[in-house]
Amino acid sequence: MRKKIVAGNWKCNTTLAEGIALAKQVSNLVAEKGAKDVVVVLGTPFTHLASVATAVDLSRVSVSAQNCAAEAKGAFTGEVSVSMIQSTGATYVILGHSERREYYHETSETLNKKVALTLAQGLTPIYCCGEALAIREAGTENAFVKKQLEETVFNLSAEDFGKIVIAYEPIWAIGTGRTASSQQAQDMLSFIRQLIAKKYNQNIAAECSILYGGSCSPANAQELFSQPDIDGGLIGGASLKADDFLAIINAY
Ligand code: PEP
Repeated sequence: MRKKIVAGNWKCNTTLAEGIALAKQVSNLVAEKGAKDVVVVLGTPFTHLASVATAVDLSRVSVSAQNCAAEAKGAFTGEVSVSMIQSTGATYVILGHSERREYYHETSETLNKKVALTLAQGLTPIYCCGEALAIREAGTENAFVKKQLEETVFNLSAEDFGKIVIAYEPIWAIGTGRTASSQQAQDMLSFIRQLIAKKYNQNIAAECSILYGGSCSPANAQELFSQPDIDGGLIGGASLKADDFLAIINAY
């Protein structure tokens, strides 16, 4: 079902104590002042998932991993499987973030396995896509994002596709303070929705939550979220400050 979602991505930030304190602060603020119809998600480091899931009011705040193993279990030293993630109380997994694609060479093939395992375990993948600056400057961003989707989530059945969330994050806007204009974001999200309609059907396209991510802040969230195809945001830097994160949640 199409939902408004504001998901924080803490990345490799916060000690366990800091993470628990931040999660409690967010949970309290959301309970007191948070918009009721917005799904709030905290994407924490693996080490924090269980503690954060215990610290927050899970009826108002959901917990997400930022990655998962591409195998269900076994001899994969250092990996964290989807069933391990699920056992912490987390219900979402961010997959295909551009930082993982770039620094950890995550390919479409690997992502397909991760998406499938996440869905099989009943968790919701937040699947990230988006182009680098050179691609945007060459004017080929639509073709690039289309290929990313075709190589991965467009391989899903209609039923499974209906369970995922998409996050469009232009790489040139991530952590740079350079947000896509609301028109640029709207144009891409509308394009993605049209692709979904073509690949599946209008109903699945209309029901899919598609988020924007990239230097989203209290100053620009309202303008971005007012666009018809933007169903919320994946928030990096601003999710590390509870007040800023709440302001983004309440930007609707
Ligand atoms: C992100 O990393 O998903 C992100 C959107 O980061 P930021 O908000 O800091 O640009």
